[in-house]
Amino acid sequence: MQQLSRRQFMKVTASTLAGSSLALMGFSPADALAEVRQYKLARTTETRNTCTYCSVGCGVLMYGLGDGAKNAKASIIHIEGDPDHPVNRGTLCPKGASLLDIIHSESRLQYPEYRAPGSNTWQRMSWEDALDRITKLMKADRDANFVEKTGDGKTVNRWLTTGMLAASAASNEVGYLTHKVARSMGMLAFDNQARV
Ligand code: SF4
Repeated sequence: MQQLSRRQFMKVTASTLAGSSLALMGFSPADALAEVRQYKLARTTETRNTCTYCSVGCGVLMYGLGDGAKNAKASIIHIEGDPDHPVNRGTLCPKGASLLDIIHSESRLQYPEYRAPGSNTWQRMSWEDALDRITKLMKADRDANFVEKTGDGKTVNRWLTTGMLAASAASNEVGYLTHKVARSMGMLAFDNQARV
């Protein structure tokens, strides 16, 4: 066994005692690390959102830097599960846990794009123009193909030539309204990842 001088013995005892006493008072290494993480988020803005990936619709907390001031570029630096969300209670699957990557991905689509028939290039358009275009095309198709009655006189009021695929991460209320809108136009081909 290694021999310790009286001075060395006092040093070891004092540091061990200090270490264990600090741990007893709550200053354990784990808490120290948690404190550093909290500091990283101290100057961020917290925003609630819903994971974009699947129909489970887990709640997430997004932390962004930048306060909207001139020359300040906003950037999301951290995402975690929302502990207050009734669906996931703070948990995220591996896809949800990697949401930060999709947000900063260079190939993430951030605005509507249009590719003309026969063209191989996509051009950017505004949301307003995109919605106008969709509305006009839907009306033209419905006017041309809406079926009020079958050949033998049965009333059906159906529109079979256009379908709709709705978003997955919607609340029950939004899902209910989406369903009502699609059906009110007579549309039968309607689906949703969450199967509203
Ligand atoms: S965190 Fe996972 S389970 Fe939850 S919505 Fe996102 S992809 Fe689906």
